[in-house]
Amino acid sequence: MKRIFIDELAKHTGEEVLIQGWVDVRRDQGKMVFFDFRDISGLVQGVVLPKSEAMEVAKEIRNEYAVAVQGIVNKRPEKNMQADRQNGDIELEIKNIEILNPSEPLPFDISNDTSAIDEGTRLEHRYLDLRSERMQKNIRVRSEFIQRCREYLFKNRFTEIETPLLTESTPEGSRDFVVPSRLNAGKFYALPQSPQQYKQLLMASGFERYFQIARCIRDEDLRADRGFEHTQIDMEMSFVKMEEVMDMVEGMITSTVEAMGYTIKEKPFPRISYKDAMAKYGADKFDLRTPEEKEKGILAYAWVVNFPFFEKTDEGGWTFTHNPFSMPIPEHIDWLMKGENIGDILTTQYDLVCNGYESGGGSIRAHKPEILEATYKVMGFSKEDLEERIGHMLKAFRFGTPPHGGIGLGVERNIMNLTGESMLREVQAFPMTRGGQTSVMKAPKPLSEKQLRELHLSIKNADNAKK
Ligand code: ASP
Repeated sequence: MKRIFIDELAKHTGEEVLIQGWVDVRRDQGKMVFFDFRDISGLVQGVVLPKSEAMEVAKEIRNEYAVAVQGIVNKRPEKNMQADRQNGDIELEIKNIEILNPSEPLPFDISNDTSAIDEGTRLEHRYLDLRSERMQKNIRVRSEFIQRCREYLFKNRFTEIETPLLTESTPEGSRDFVVPSRLNAGKFYALPQSPQQYKQLLMASGFERYFQIARCIRDEDLRADRGFEHTQIDMEMSFVKMEEVMDMVEGMITSTVEAMGYTIKEKPFPRISYKDAMAKYGADKFDLRTPEEKEKGILAYAWVVNFPFFEKTDEGGWTFTHNPFSMPIPEHIDWLMKGENIGDILTTQYDLVCNGYESGGGSIRAHKPEILEATYKVMGFSKEDLEERIGHMLKAFRFGTPPHGGIGLGVERNIMNLTGESMLREVQAFPMTRGGQTSVMKAPKPLSEKQLRELHLSIKNADNAKK
């Protein structure tokens, strides 16, 4: 018999069917045993009637067993109907239950919100935590959000392109994670903090509109809304001005979240300068919702623009505030080229804020070598350093690279807003612990002597290494 999903049962009233899933709840009433069975499509009640051949197995079964159940779909008697429940008007009269795999008693209760359970226990058994209703919903909201964004981008002539994970450092203001090279003794790859340089090189490559659901890997201090890994909807477009990128993103976000049933507070998204945001809200991330709108889960998006390009370093030099590859606003290009009024130069950076979080950020880029060179000069790079760091970009820009700009939208931050979660780990399938340990598995781990030898590495202080 072919397995059907639980949400298809009602169509088969009166027929014998096969479902497969988990035992959500078992209620043994002595003569009869009731179950709620669960699969990806929902829940249904099943009953083993007195004297049924399935009784022996039914007595043995416990919560979270994986089972295959054959039975007849019956209309429930009027008095037992539960109008407020999925499948509340039918039940499965169980003829046969096959235990596909039993389950030990679970280390924690997954029938309720698991957020208060000890982090270590939850993440050690993340696969069980993910069975809970809230976690299933969060991960599915994430999947739907990405799917809808992807569809929007395909409709708008974007090409999805993957870029390397083993690469050179791209500065995004964090430390790099590095990978030792076996073939090149003493040399290291960096994992990408973002695909920034590659996506710009794809503009040099003539793709015009690129996107990628990109993993960004940054060694930074772990906080509630930060992890070592996060995902971005990473986009780049050629022949565009700021407004065109912002409009495209706004169109994508609006059509995606509205199709998912959410309400946006204000359209088009309000735009505010960094200076005004700081004066008004004391921060460049702010929450525009009233307490009532918070209750209702309304999404309040806004753009922040006109950020300063540079800020002072502790040593008294200059560094970029957001992205060294950005272009100043057109009125300030001249200052950059002459190295004047550095602190006053504004960049074409645009940040998308939603409900108090930065949910994305991007800019129009310097597409001419002399502009990018001027930026690195302000930051104190010598000609040689500059060649070493970004020589490949400067070279690409000498071959008709079009004007371009893009954005990276933080998937987790966006899903946190959609689901009302305040922790990044609630919207990632397998997040890290606060101490930087992987869920379920036990990385980071020491390497074997053999691996160290192959990688031309030796660990200097084994005691420190063990910690
Ligand atoms: N690379 C930037 C980031 O990761 C996004 C962008 O400017 O497109 O934040």
